[in-house]
This record gives sequence, C-alpha cells and structure tokens, in this order.
Amino acid sequence: MVQQSESQSTGSSQIGKRRRVLIVGGVAGGASCAARLRRLDESFEIVMFDRGPYVSFANCGLPYYVGNVIADESRLLVGSREMFHERFNIEVHTETEVTGIDRNACMITARDLRTANTRTEHYDALVLSPGAAPIRPLLPGVDLPGIFAVRTIPDSRRIRSWIDDHNAKTAVVVGGGFIGLEMVENLIHRELAVTVLEKLPQVMPPLDPEMAVPLMEHLAAKGIQLHLGDGLARIEARDGGGLIVVAESGARLPADLVILAIGVKPEIMLAKNAGLKIGPRGGVNVDAQMRTSDPKIWAVGDVVEVQDLVTGQETVLPLAGPANRQGRVVAESIAGRVTHFRGVQATAVVGVLGLTVASTGASEKGLRRAGVTNFEKVYLHPGHHAGYYPGARQIHLKLLFSVPDGRILGAQAVGYEGVEKRIDVIASAIQFKGTVHDLAEAELCYAPQFGAAKDPVNLAGMLAENVLNGDMPVADWLELDRSDALLLDVREPEEFAHGHIPKAINLPLSQLRSRYVELPKDRGIWVCCAVGQRAYFAARFLTQQGYRSLNLSGGYTTYGARKAAGL
Ligand SMILES: Cc1cc2nc3c(=O)[nH]c(=O)nc-3n(C[C@H](O)[C@H](O)[C@H](O)COP(=O)(O)OP(=O)(O)OC[C@H]3O[C@@H](n4cnc5c(N)ncnc54)[C@H](O)[C@@H]3O)c2cc1C
Repeated sequence: MVQQSESQSTGSSQIGKRRRVLIVGGVAGGASCAARLRRLDESFEIVMFDRGPYVSFANCGLPYYVGNVIADESRLLVGSREMFHERFNIEVHTETEVTGIDRNACMITARDLRTANTRTEHYDALVLSPGAAPIRPLLPGVDLPGIFAVRTIPDSRRIRSWIDDHNAKTAVVVGGGFIGLEMVENLIHRELAVTVLEKLPQVMPPLDPEMAVPLMEHLAAKGIQLHLGDGLARIEARDGGGLIVVAESGARLPADLVILAIGVKPEIMLAKNAGLKIGPRGGVNVDAQMRTSDPKIWAVGDVVEVQDLVTGQETVLPLAGPANRQGRVVAESIAGRVTHFRGVQATAVVGVLGLTVASTGASEKGLRRAGVTNFEKVYLHPGHHAGYYPGARQIHLKLLFSVPDGRILGAQAVGYEGVEKRIDVIASAIQFKGTVHDLAEAELCYAPQFGAAKDPVNLAGMLAENVLNGDMPVADWLELDRSDALLLDVREPEEFAHGHIPKAINLPLSQLRSRYVELPKDRGIWVCCAVGQRAYFAARFLTQQGYRSLNLSGGYTTYGARKAAGL
C-alpha cells in the first residue's frame, strides 16, 4: 500500500518554507553529508534512509569484529538514529529501502522493510549514497550455508556465530584484495587455517606484481596457503558437513567457512532506473560538485565515478576517505557554497599480520593500461629509521614519476614499520601536483627512532632526480634478458656467492678503482648490488671514466622480487 508521507501531506506551501533534503544511504557518504549540511544550515529539513538496521557504522571495522580484535559490537556504531536526531535534528529511517525516484515530481518511494508499507516523500534535493555491493558470482553453490560476504554488522555477526557454532577450523577466502586480506588476518586471529584463492597470480591487485612479493612471502611464512592464478568455479557441500571450494583448475579446497571477497559493484539500480547518467566505468556520473545529470540529485561514495587525479581517467574507488570528503562537498553544494571534489588518487593501506602495504597514485601496470609511456621508476629498500639506531626495518618502496618533468605519478611501499607515513607524504605531494624534486627537498621529522636525516621519501626523490638529470640513468629491468650489456655485480664476493643474476660478473666496489680497466669499454655496463646504492657509486665512477653504465634500480633485492613475480 502506498501512503503519503506526513511532510508531503502538509502541502507545498510548507515545503516551500523548509527545503527538504533526502539522503539515501546513511553510512560513510550519506551520514557525513547529513551532519555537514546541518552544521552549515539549520533551516533544512534533513531526512536519511537506510535499508539496514544501523546508520553511521564502521564498515572498515567489520573484519576486526569477526577477529574479536573489536570484541564489543557497539563500538562499531559511530552514530545512531537517536544521536542524529538529538545532536543534529536529522530524521533517520532505518530498515527503510528507497525503491524509486520520480524525478518529475521530485518524489522518492520508500518501503518500510518491517511492515512492507511503501510511502512517497518529496525532496528539494536528493543525495544518493547507496554504496557498493559485494560481487556474488553466479556460480553453482555460492548460496550454500557457510559462505559469507562482509558488508554489514549483521554479516560479521553471522560469521562470528558460524565460527563458534560450527567450531570452524578452516576457511577459504576467495579474493586477495584489501577486504580479503583483512579477513585473512582476522580469521587467523580466530585460529582458523586459511587458504586464499585468487584469480590473479598475485595478492593485492593494486600493487605491481613485484611489490606484492614480500607480502606473499609474509603470508606464506604465517602459514596461509596461497592458491593463486586460479579462479572460483563452484562450491560444493562436503559429505559430513563443511564445504569444498572448487577452483577453475579443478583443485578442491576444503573449508568450514568461505568468505567471498572478489570485489564490489556500485549500487546503481536506483539511479539507473531514474534515468540518471551512468559513466563508462559503471558508476553514477557526477560533476565536480558531485551533482548527477539531474541538477536536484547528487551522488557520493562507492556508487559514483570520479576522475583519477593522476591518469585523468574516470574511475570507481570504493574507499571511505573519498566517500566522506564527497559527502562534505555535496553538503556545501546544497547549502550554496561552491566547493569542488578534486578527484581521487587511490591512497590506501592494509595491515596483514604485522606487515603494512600501502600505495598511492598510479601503479606501473595502471600507467601502461592508461597508455602512459613517458615515465620512469626507482626502487629502494631503506630502513624505516636510521640504521645505527636499533630495530630499523626495511621498507620496499617503488616510486613512479613522469619524464622529463618529474611529476610524481605513484608510489607503493611494503614493510613492517613507517610504511603508511611515507606513502601519506607522497600522497600529499601528488595531491599538490608535486615533483620528485619536492620529495628530495621535503623537510620531514627526524630523530633516530623515527626516521633518518635523509628520510626514505627524500631518498626516493633524490634517486628520481638522479635519473632525470642523468647522474644515475637506470636500466630497464624488462630488457634484462634481451640486453647485450655486461652485468656487473659490485657486491663483495661472499654476497655474490649467495646468489646473483645469471651471467653477472663480480667486481666489488671496494676493488673497482684499482681494477676497472679490466672492464670492456665497448659494451654498456649494467651495475647491480644488493639494493642499488653501491651500484650507484660504481656507476658514477665508471661514467666518469668514460664507460656507458646504467644502474639496475633496487639491485638484487628487486631482481629477486621480480623473478618471484614471474617478470
Ligand atoms: C569490510 C569492509 C572493510 C573496509 N575497510 C576499509 C578501509 O579500511 N579503508 C577504507 O578507506 N575503506 C574501507 N572500506 C570501504 C568503505 O567502507 C566504503 O568505501 C564506504 O563505506 C563507502 O561509503 P558509501 O556511503 O558510498 O557507502 P556505504 O558506507 O556502504 O553506505 C551505503 C548504505 O546505503 C544503504 N543503501 C543502499 N541502497 C539503499 C536504498 N535503496 N535505500 C536505503 N538504503 C540503501 C546500504 O544499506 C548502506 O548502509 C571497507 C568496506 C568494507 C565492506
């Protein structure tokens, strides 16, 4: 039965007095928009709808609730219906699904999921923040009991109960991205044996393959089975209870519990049915003020398509930071302030059992996909703080920058300490359209326990500057097998004996000045060491003696990672 809402029945004269803003979806984007709008203007009537039982909950905390790191469910509730009412005079309707938009009449249809009653509501401005739904592939068995996606508090509650009630000991996580890996960590906290099934040959798809290697080694060292390069084919019920995840290769992976984490899809149905423009990447098309193709409707968060700051291309980026910032931009737009959303650069971090992986901007594979060719990259493996202070841990860092202007395009880092700090600094530089020269010059915190007088960020900038100004031209790792250059390893003989690039010859840096004449002058020389530093010293010396020498950036450490990644 369709009822008329109270506000609608009060007639258009009242509507005219108080502008009505309706918000669909009351979590990251929706709730931040609602609260900001109220702070800006007391005169709006603000009504928020969510089909779930909660608004403003911490979706990002859900894996940790499964892992009992967050033991008290109420900690996930950042705001409540009552809080929104009392603190902000915002009306919240939970368990109420918005099922349609009549753009001509400026009406939405809302369905109370408890009573099944529907009603219409008038809007002067409508904000869509419905998020993205976990992808559930249409494969046999994916609806069997014991198979879960993680999106809501009830989802994580169900996973917790399943583990307890079925005394679950084994789990298969399908998908090795952010959410999959966070679930891996938390299932390990619950003492389950975990297998990751991932279609790509690497985990963490946003990373370039060689940068994912330390992460994969870490996961393997923690006892996690990695079943990579193989997709999900179906899931079967196991005789006597439990499940069998069958991969495309035919591999059969037994599990008491399966987590589906193969990605999310923007919830565009409402927008699409209303005739709003959908972009080429499958998200709702918006302008810089997050306005859709209808000037009275705005959209934010996981449902929208926005511009990638680095490539300039349209992208969908399901992350909480952009959703929150976009919510704010929409509030300002509705309130009559002209604020613009700058675009996204995919700054993200994940922690897995002590290891941190973070990235910002474009990856090398992303640049290649986007057709960008005028870029260079450097690898470095510095300590997270001064080496003389106890406890320095290595950070593996890759920096991508455009040639010849040095604009920073992206960075990825993996390590145990200080990883996200470096990526955040580089992310800020990207946001301000900074160059590698800005990184080299950046004045950052330093005391022995925190960093180094030349912080890894400075070092990355300096290495890149050396590439740009010709002081340290780098060899292309991709050409390693094809090049006829002499491979010169300048590590000490005992290091060389432990492993080296095939065909490399060993002439340690410590003997180079006395023996360099042994090297041929008619061939290019590609210089390698452990991480790139001694090779740089050697290459500088050789260049000044008239040799054509290039540095293999990142040295044997990067070589090992690239080999392990099959590059
Ligand atoms: C398990 C998990 C972990 C995450 N961890 C991180 C992290 O560590 N860092 C990070 O940056 N991001 C993380 N994210 C992503 C982040 O939570 C999202 O990017 C962000 O919440 C998107 O905000 P949103 O407002 O677009 O959508 P959501 O926050 O998903 O909110 C959408 C709401 O709209 C409701 N809704 C949808 N359709 C309707 C309708 N028709 N009527 C009424 N209500 C509707 C939904 O029920 C939902 O409650 C994580 C996400 C998940 C699921």
